[in-house]
Amino acid sequence: MAAENLAVSRETFDNVILPVYAPAQFVPVKGKGSRVWDQQGKEYIDFSGGIAVTALGHCHPALVETLKSQGETLWHTSNVFTNEPALRLASKLIAATFAERVFFGNSGAEANEAAFKLARYYACKKHSPFKSKIIAFHNAFHGRTLFTVSVGGQPKYSDGFGPKPADIVHVPFNDLAAVKAVIDDHTCAIVVEPIQGEGGVMPATPEFMQGLRALCDQHNALLVLDEVQSGMGRSGKLFAYEHYGFKPDIITTAKALGGGFPVSAMLTTHEIASVMAPGVHGTTYGGNPLACAIAETALDIINTPEVLNGVDARREQFVSALQKINEQFDIFSEIRGKGLLLGAVLNAQHASKARDILNASAAEGLMVLTAGSDVIRFVPSLVIEPTDIAEGMARFARAIAKVLN
Ligand SMILES: *Cc1c(COP(=O)(O)O)cnc(C)c1O
Repeated sequence: MAAENLAVSRETFDNVILPVYAPAQFVPVKGKGSRVWDQQGKEYIDFSGGIAVTALGHCHPALVETLKSQGETLWHTSNVFTNEPALRLASKLIAATFAERVFFGNSGAEANEAAFKLARYYACKKHSPFKSKIIAFHNAFHGRTLFTVSVGGQPKYSDGFGPKPADIVHVPFNDLAAVKAVIDDHTCAIVVEPIQGEGGVMPATPEFMQGLRALCDQHNALLVLDEVQSGMGRSGKLFAYEHYGFKPDIITTAKALGGGFPVSAMLTTHEIASVMAPGVHGTTYGGNPLACAIAETALDIINTPEVLNGVDARREQFVSALQKINEQFDIFSEIRGKGLLLGAVLNAQHASKARDILNASAAEGLMVLTAGSDVIRFVPSLVIEPTDIAEGMARFARAIAKVLN
């Protein structure tokens, strides 16, 4: 028997959900491609992609097909038994990257938690238990577990939860001299997002990234790239590290990996993975056949020239539409980011209006995101139709006109 259909609305949220979010006033009930419909049947264009997750749009036919076929085959085995989809997905991720070993989790935070633990463990086993310092960056975001908020560079997310994991140092992003000043032979890892997402859509410069690689090599530290948001095609390459011409030691990926189904992965080399042994780390759900089957289909589609080469063309359409809006309203100081991770930075006169613009966009039938108080963030489907971009941008212009009047 189907579950009884209890009537729920946006008001229900305030009564039943832990008050850690402030969701929009409408409740989406259905999605197709880059269009979404709410409880009242109103249609939205989705430039938010479920925060860079639904990289193939909503209910992509191939993902739905895999969800159904794997759903009728095998959902879960636990890590006591391995499974074919996990082994295939790991093999394909290895074939597509620098990596030789994969660990699966269910969220970005879990992949990062595994990465940070591995970096510490590797240093402890190969060098010394005192080689535990992690260098990370102001405004970085790595997830919400206590270790990941502590490595993240936003104290508002880590204060108030008791003692934090120690030996984590934060320095300014894109400031190689600041890293040089704190790195030493007790450093086990530098942790960095190639493009800071939550922190304001801020791309690392190639010189900065290459400098971090060199500093890690000098001090036997691992370079850990958090590609939870920048990975899986978002930057126009499968992973953003490919833009810099080097190999990282560990990368993490999540958001778009399952195209909307929760799954994450940490990728590393055989040499680094070799310090691990059964029982040292683990998860019950991580690498379950249902999630891995869906991610395998997502990877098969995203890791093709058709999809990856389409990212920059779509970015151009976004940038030129935003520039036109800016000519009309003089509201942005800069359009930044990489690929389809775009940030429109509000100029000083309009700083702190990001939330108002998000709300006005929703009223016009458009889903956008913010990244801080003065950046509008766009992380649409990588295969969004050009007509959806055009229509969404028309709605965005109307929203801005309303906010400014
Ligand atoms: C979203 C995000 C995370 C956290 O992922 P969750 O799935 O929410 O745990 C970590 N790092 C980056 C760069 C992210 O954008």
